[in-house]
Order: sequence, then C-alpha cells, then structure tokens
Amino acid sequence: MSFSALAAHAPKAALEPYSYEPEPLGEHDVEIAISHCGICHSDVHLVDGEWGDYFPLVPGHEIVGTVVAGKAFPAGTRVGVGWQCNSCGDCSYCAAGEEVLCSENQATCQGNFGGFADRIRVDERFVFAIPDGLGSAEAAPLLCGGITVYSPLQRYFRKSSRVAVIGIGGLGHLALQFARAMGYQVTAVSRSPEKEAEARKHGAHEFLTGDPVPGSFDLVLNTAHAVLDMSTWMAALSPKGIFCQLGAAGEPLEVPVFSLIVGQRVVTGSAIGHPSVIRDMLAFAAEHGVQAQVEVMPMDQANEALDRTRRNQARYRVVLAR
Ligand SMILES: [Zn+2]
Ligand SMILES: [Zn+2]
Repeated sequence: MSFSALAAHAPKAALEPYSYEPEPLGEHDVEIAISHCGICHSDVHLVDGEWGDYFPLVPGHEIVGTVVAGKAFPAGTRVGVGWQCNSCGDCSYCAAGEEVLCSENQATCQGNFGGFADRIRVDERFVFAIPDGLGSAEAAPLLCGGITVYSPLQRYFRKSSRVAVIGIGGLGHLALQFARAMGYQVTAVSRSPEKEAEARKHGAHEFLTGDPVPGSFDLVLNTAHAVLDMSTWMAALSPKGIFCQLGAAGEPLEVPVFSLIVGQRVVTGSAIGHPSVIRDMLAFAAEHGVQAQVEVMPMDQANEALDRTRRNQARYRVVLAR
C-alpha cells in the first residue's frame, strides 16, 4: 500500500505529486485518512529550505481526518495531529507528560512525511479526538497555531491578568479569542490601524498601534516574526511580568539587562504544547466557541495556498481540503 502526497524536492520548489510506502503500522500507531490540513508559517520555512535539507518534503502538521486503523480509537473517529508526532516515551519529561521537551521529540513533517497527503500513520499519544462542536477546517489550525498561543496563555494566567497580543495573524487572531475566553484583559497590538475592527471581533478589549504605557501588561505574547524594540516592551511589563516570544524571528532579541534585574521580569518563548494541554485546548475551544478563521482551498491548489501564507495574505489561515 502506498500513500499519495504532495512533496517538494528542493528549496522553494513547487510541490509535486509524490507517493511513498509508509512505515509498517506499529502496535501503538493510528492510521488516519486526512480530510483537512492547515498551513502554518513553519511549512513555508521548511519548503523554502530555511530550516535544513528535509527533501523530499511533504509539509503539513495541522491535520484533521478520520481513523482507519489502530487500536486507540474506533474506526471513523474524527481526530487531529499537530507538529509533534513522537517522543522517546521514557525520559523524565515524557514521564511527566511534558513530551514537547523530550530530546527525541519528532516533528510530523520534518524528517517525516506530513499532512499534504491522503493518509498518515502517527503514534497514538499524539493523536487527539476532535470534539463534535468544532468543524474540521476550523479545528485544523488549532493543532499548531492554536496550541502555540493557548499554552502560554494558560501557563501564565493570573487573576485579572492583562495581556498584549502583538500581531493579528494566524496565531494572533486565535490568541485574542483564547485570552478573552480565559478572562484576560486583552489588548491587540498591530501597526495596521485597519485591523482594529477584526481584532475587537476576535476578543480584544483595546487596540494599540503606538507604544505601550509602561507597566501596563502582565504578559506580552509576540506572535509576529519581526524583532521588537525590547526596551519599550520590557518597560511595558509589570513587575514579574512575562514577555513570551512565539513568532520564529530570525534575529536575536536585545534585552536591556536592567529591565530583567529590576522587577524580576521574565523573557521566555513557547512552541506548541504537551498532549494533555492539546486535549484541554480542544475541549476549551469547543466549549467557548474559539475557532480559526479559515480560507479553505482544495489540496491540489497547495502551491497557491503556500504562497498566500508566504506573502501573509491568508485571513487568517489557509486550510487544504481533500
Ligand atoms: Zn505550525
Ligand atoms: Zn522523552
């Protein structure tokens, strides 16, 4: 049996039809017939060869489909798979349910063949049932973009926390929704004033285009790829405030030392989330009506779809459907 997919064979090359023999279905694997796959900026970085040579490359790690084989779920169950597809299973991090931190963590489409395909086989620990209340296209982007913003929002929530979400795109529009539903006082930050109405629609109480007021936030999430003026944003944090970088910026952050020493402020980053947190996130999204705003395109337009993401034209996530 072979799986059919779309693959890039060189950096920035167009995706072409590709078929491959899957690994044998392991005892703890689930085979999924893929119906939807969201496109994340990481897919563009991989296709463009910016993160190394993984060619032939089948992108895609925001996968939704139905179970066709495996013991963990009844056949026909609607499930999702995100960025991580495996870990060692017995290091201290895996034992603690912190699989993202495992040194042997594996990515769904980096060194493995991803979701731009008709089927995929994944370890059952990294396959998640999709709650009935979530549409498949709207759920797909939750599996990478959604969990990437949900994790730090959940981890750092304090009663009456004030959060700034910088960047109103694939990650940002989900961060606004999750933050609002969790009970944060939410400020959207963007250099584009025309995004104010959209940002408020997704849950922002306030909209900021200029510089922040010093001490006005307990948490800053930077979903943008641009490197920020850290003097300004560290000053915007309250004592013990947390700056969390989510966008994969290519340049270093230059953090003024005194902004860390005085006020015990923290600079950190975050990516995706542990399996238990992904389950919580999906349940939370279904309960509170959090969903990605998507443009659905057919899988055979994957090249055009990747290009929309590459050019930041997607509002806010392109999802490929088979
Ligand atoms: Zn991603
Ligand atoms: Zn491990």
